[in-house]
Amino acid sequence: MIPGPARATQVARSWLGRKARRAREGHGLILMYHRIAPPSSVDPWNLIVEPDHFRDHLEVLRRLTDVVPLESLPGTMRRRKEGQPVVAITFDDGYQDNLEFALPLLENDECPATVFLATGWIGRDVPFWWDRLAWILLAPDELPETLDLRIGETRLTWSNPESSTPREAATEDREALHRRLWVALRLQPDPIQDATMEELARWAGLDAGPEEAGRPMSEDEVQRMVESGTARVGAHAHTHRPLAELSPACQESEVQRSLDRCEQIVGYRPDTFAYPHGSFSHATIAAVMRSDLALACSSEKDLAWAASPPLALPRVAVMNSSAATFERWLRWYWLP
Ligand SMILES: [Zn+2]
Repeated sequence: MIPGPARATQVARSWLGRKARRAREGHGLILMYHRIAPPSSVDPWNLIVEPDHFRDHLEVLRRLTDVVPLESLPGTMRRRKEGQPVVAITFDDGYQDNLEFALPLLENDECPATVFLATGWIGRDVPFWWDRLAWILLAPDELPETLDLRIGETRLTWSNPESSTPREAATEDREALHRRLWVALRLQPDPIQDATMEELARWAGLDAGPEEAGRPMSEDEVQRMVESGTARVGAHAHTHRPLAELSPACQESEVQRSLDRCEQIVGYRPDTFAYPHGSFSHATIAAVMRSDLALACSSEKDLAWAASPPLALPRVAVMNSSAATFERWLRWYWLP
């Protein structure tokens, strides 16, 4: 899509701003991946990067940058006003495919990485709720004609336009329904998310979700991943709800529980954190500060600067792009 004039101006301004700032201030680039897995027909959030593409990304990064552990990026970038750019690789949520597909490639290229665990999901044998929701709504050839669902206090109804009723023009398509349910569920406690997924699966006549929907790692898999020495874990809250929209007490509990659980699984307390959905407030920062965390990542799309607050370091999502596209994207937006 070609950006409109206002958006194009904004892009050009931030590009020029970064270019000027890069010349005078230490900086680094934190990359955010989620899944490394074979391509899937159901990936509405663009979470999947294919293993072949990821291997190519690592090759490009090794050639153009120094890949450093996330923990050492702030110190390293301060010393690297000139010379090879520094990059840190991160993965969010704790998908099993990080162990199966990403780790061997990271080890092969000696690239360190941090995997942020949504700890309430580790060891569960179902896909993350958002993946399950996408599979239930977007994968089937057909869905029932109507949906009448209660999520907490909210009643949600839907008429399937694919069943060609006279109401067709007034009904929303599956993508819109998917989005509406995702919004309604993202703040709900996990028992409600679980119950809703069970109900939706029964409604659609499906079981838990196919293998390719991905699943969280087990405790044993997390341990195997960190034993390699190539990957470390960071915390990504417990239930994966957007923290800024929760009460301060709830935010505190999310941060503490995820750190405790990480420590229980891998035997050390992480010193890095990533805010689920990039959502944080003053209360979140206060909770993170009380936990003695050294560094936390947001999802603000920018370079991490020497002057960036260490508890809100910008981070950039990587798409499932070929080597050539990935290199162009890096050179154009992010590298000197
Ligand atoms: Zn996440």
